[in-house]
Amino acid sequence: MNNSVFIPLSVPNLSLDILDHIKETIETGWVSTGGRFITEFEHKMTKYVGVEYAISTQSGTAGLHLALKALGVEAGDEVIVPTLTFIAAVNPVRYMGAEPIFMDCDDTLNMDMDKLEEFLEYECKYEEGKVVNKTTGKQIKAIIVVHVFGNPAKMEKLMEIKDKYNLKVIEDATEALGSYYLKGKYAGKYCGTIADVGVYSFNANKIITTGGGGMVVSDDQQLIDRITKLSLQAKNDSVYFIHDEVGYNYRMTNIQAAFGISQIDKLNSFIHTKVENYNIYKEAIEEIDGLVLLKFREDTRSNYWFYSIIVNKKIYGINRDELLTKLNANNIQTRPLWGLIHKQKPYLNNQGYRLDKAEFYEKNLINIPCSSNLSARHVQIVINQLNQYESANL
Ligand SMILES: *Cc1c(COP(=O)(O)O)cnc(C)c1O
Repeated sequence: MNNSVFIPLSVPNLSLDILDHIKETIETGWVSTGGRFITEFEHKMTKYVGVEYAISTQSGTAGLHLALKALGVEAGDEVIVPTLTFIAAVNPVRYMGAEPIFMDCDDTLNMDMDKLEEFLEYECKYEEGKVVNKTTGKQIKAIIVVHVFGNPAKMEKLMEIKDKYNLKVIEDATEALGSYYLKGKYAGKYCGTIADVGVYSFNANKIITTGGGGMVVSDDQQLIDRITKLSLQAKNDSVYFIHDEVGYNYRMTNIQAAFGISQIDKLNSFIHTKVENYNIYKEAIEEIDGLVLLKFREDTRSNYWFYSIIVNKKIYGINRDELLTKLNANNIQTRPLWGLIHKQKPYLNNQGYRLDKAEFYEKNLINIPCSSNLSARHVQIVINQLNQYESANL
């Protein structure tokens, strides 16, 4: 049974109300990094995730770069990062002249906090309040934690580790806008709002989009002031153009923000659709031997951004790559997990700590169509395809 309708992995869900905002940017000439939509979008974001301050950036990557700089990460420092993530979470460490240390994931795909603790306990030493990596002799200043595919990371444990070792923590919440905790110390808190600083992305594949764009959030006013300044060429005086350090042109434009103010209002309905489609997939995939649809953490309300399936060739009949090829040949756009970052050329010489779970997921995981405008009928087409390759049905 061949399928002829193209079903994309993840596409934007835009609506024409944005046109009115775009028209206003044209009529008023406010098309660059100033304008009312920027402030309005930042305000809406603070309200949505429940945080004091939000500063828009031209991308999530730019936001992470500014966060590292504002938190004091410098050339020669080290930053602990996950290996299982998109490379944009790691590259900003290098922009600072610092080096990443790669950490493994657990079965939620997020950073394994037990291994993290073990690494800090046994592979590091403490001198004058500093964490020093025994292997390299360098200071570890920060940790970047990613809420992978929208699934909230174990922040309670991470914040204990942060306090114990006096490290800075950046939440890369680029995939997790709208995810929050239901239980424990952070019940009601949104991903991105717990550590020193959180970063969101509005790239086209994210849960809401402005074409390109990002947002940095924090309750720390000084930190946000510093990030704001750095994002606007570090201008100290706007009349005489006095700059006392090197800054960046990293703000979002008013045109992008015009998308943002419309998209953020639709976030809850996007999440609703994603949860519904996930549940349809779940019921069907439970009946397919050899495929496992990964769960989102039950003690959280995830945004269900990306759905992942683990393929067990012995039971299912074909392996992950064969399934990928067949689905893509049948117009169902699917994707393997990102290549692990510690195996990418720029990072081959960096240290990794007991990376084994990530290797398993890299080999066996696929992402299946999950757009917030994916219809139940299209979900059914994907399910039919998945059913068809199960060895028992051949
Ligand atoms: C998308 C993404 C980013 C980068 O966001 P951009 O807005 O595309 O720069 C960073 N980290 C992760 C984990 C991402 O998925």
